[in-house]
Amino acid sequence: MLTFAELRFMLESAGVILRLHKGRLTAGPASCLTDELRANIREHRERMITARCERCGAPSLGFDFCDDCDPFGPPEDDGARA
Ligand SMILES: [Zn+2]
Repeated sequence: MLTFAELRFMLESAGVILRLHKGRLTAGPASCLTDELRANIREHRERMITARCERCGAPSLGFDFCDDCDPFGPPEDDGARA
């Protein structure tokens, strides 16, 4: 089983987007999800659902801070993404 950090890295590499909507965790697009990824998402789902940003209390999908409050900023954000 992957650690949480490994899972997040693999999801990002695979192009999988996680969302939390009304307490339900969804991952997609389905075409990017393998059985291994699905199994590991299940393992870490509770953490990703319950984690809240230490600064503003927004859902943080398992991290200590949400994207807006991340003291390190978004990874490799060079403004290229629209
Ligand atoms: Zn926050």
